[in-house]
Amino acid sequence: MVVRESFALLPSYVPAVMYAILVPIAIAFIYGIYRVFARFELWKALRSLNTGSLSRGFSRVITQRRVIEKLKGFPHIFLFFGTLLLFLGTVTVFLETDVLKHFGLLILKDTSYFLFELIMDLSGLIFLIGVLLLLPTREREGKLLLLGLLYIGISGFLMEATRISSSPNEASIYSFIGNSLSGLIGSSLRGLYEAIWWSHAILAFIMIAYLPYSNLLHSLTSLVTSSLEEDGVEFPREPFLLQDVENVEELRVGFERPEELPWYEKYRLAACVKCGRCTDSCPANQVGRPLSPRDVVIGLRGSLLGAHYELRDETVWSCVACGACSLSCPNYVKPLDFLMERRRRLVFDGRIDKKMGELVNSLRRYRNSLSVPQRGRLSWLSSDEDPDYYIWVGCQYSFDPIGKRIVSRLVELLRSSGLRIATFGEMETCCGEPVRRLGEEGMFQEFVMANSELFKELGVKKLLVVCPHGLTVFRKEYPRIVRDWDVEVVSHVELLARLHGEGRLKLRQIDDLTFHDPCNLSRYNGIVEEPRSVLRGLRGYREMRRSGKDTFCCGAGGANYWYQGESSMAKERVKEAQEIGAKNVVVACPFCYAMINDAIKGMGAEDLRVLEISELLE
Ligand code: SF4
Ligand code: SF4
Repeated sequence: MVVRESFALLPSYVPAVMYAILVPIAIAFIYGIYRVFARFELWKALRSLNTGSLSRGFSRVITQRRVIEKLKGFPHIFLFFGTLLLFLGTVTVFLETDVLKHFGLLILKDTSYFLFELIMDLSGLIFLIGVLLLLPTREREGKLLLLGLLYIGISGFLMEATRISSSPNEASIYSFIGNSLSGLIGSSLRGLYEAIWWSHAILAFIMIAYLPYSNLLHSLTSLVTSSLEEDGVEFPREPFLLQDVENVEELRVGFERPEELPWYEKYRLAACVKCGRCTDSCPANQVGRPLSPRDVVIGLRGSLLGAHYELRDETVWSCVACGACSLSCPNYVKPLDFLMERRRRLVFDGRIDKKMGELVNSLRRYRNSLSVPQRGRLSWLSSDEDPDYYIWVGCQYSFDPIGKRIVSRLVELLRSSGLRIATFGEMETCCGEPVRRLGEEGMFQEFVMANSELFKELGVKKLLVVCPHGLTVFRKEYPRIVRDWDVEVVSHVELLARLHGEGRLKLRQIDDLTFHDPCNLSRYNGIVEEPRSVLRGLRGYREMRRSGKDTFCCGAGGANYWYQGESSMAKERVKEAQEIGAKNVVVACPFCYAMINDAIKGMGAEDLRVLEISELLE
């Protein structure tokens, strides 16, 4: 019988010394884990796990789905599977050597042993490939960790080769790497074997002890975030429900110090691997604003562990709430939430500038975001009795001449398809999205209560929303607040795509166009295919470099439209449209329309024009 020999080629005192060294290692590891659990409130996250969420987490981790969405994530697959298999192999050896053998049991013998050797060599190879591919992509700390892993991998193979050349057996050929290496180095390292063994073991122990204090921590925490977090972009949870608040004086929202973050956001900080994908995808960062979501996450995490970090106001207000960072994070850390939580506190403390104050005042005084009287709102749009849909036009298109033209034509189109459309007239106010993104949670919830009451009074069952910002709050955020919410919320893009698919609307002949996906349509609501089902029928339709869920924000989101006053993001978008030779930029959001239109004018790019998606149909 061929069996695996433990501690081969080593003096007999080695096991006892090794276990003695393991004691402080275990203490350091356990203390590190305790510290992480305490500072990041991981206990609370663990208590929220259940079988369903855990199976989702395991499937996300095993498939590495988020990681490989970007090409640069592929090397991680090698490291992940290599490490996982080597870890399982080590546990198997430990079980056999330290538990089963004492009961006269052996798992690794003959065929199972041969198979084990084959799998371990294959895993070691995959592991080393992963380490080598990732090495150039990491910064200093990551490089040091990877170099440590590289040494562990290479020394493991060298020891295996030395063992094989000293005492070959039937299993040797299954250790295909060690066996080939033994042909090259023979027993030249025999005299150094014990030294290599100790350096290999001690480095591996140090890595284990260091795990909770380093980037390697994500190997434990990413399973929790992958289990608990949703796939899409969600706005952070409500810090309170206005309807349940008894004493407004006691309310506290957002955070000054990260210790004040709610546990369901705090625990995520422990899962960051500093990969920088969030920053790579951040439009604010790309146009040179002082915002790197990666640095925000790392800073807050460091602060929870005792380091100094100041999250500056200008960083917080640079965010356009586009959701790109949250959607691109392989570990579901969701940097957007920390910025929005901080805004809540800044607004709560009155730390907002004049323009932000004007937005809040406009909504308080006029109930719309444009500081214009409500009287006559939507008087230009007739309303049908017994409607199929109530239309929510949104503030921008309600008052803007271009918007009035677009919506009038849209409603005509829908009526020509046999649908009856009712309006709210002067009763339509703001949906509350701008103040929620600004951080004024109380005012947002006032709009939620007022609008949901209006819908109840009128018996609204189907709401057609023209503005994707309104779509997000009505579809995803109102139901979290209004207990008996029973309204089907439909985007005008979804409805137009359906009517076009059913042959009830026809395409006009417009050439050379591209589509700018609004963040609120593609990222927040996953509406990517619907506009394309219309656009693909047109000659010369081309995608821009960044499209679908990888779209690039126009710069209006996160209430920036009201306070930022610059259009560098929209200009980026215009350049992208020009790069592909488009003559028409099709949009599906009032704010994208305004931003891109202004950018075109500002750049003198008069050969380009903006079209609303409904203008493609007749
Ligand atoms: S939401 Fe958008 S702008 Fe804000 S940090 Fe994330 S990627 Fe940057
Ligand atoms: S927050 Fe996510 S995407 Fe950003 S650096 Fe951390 S792990 Fe990477």
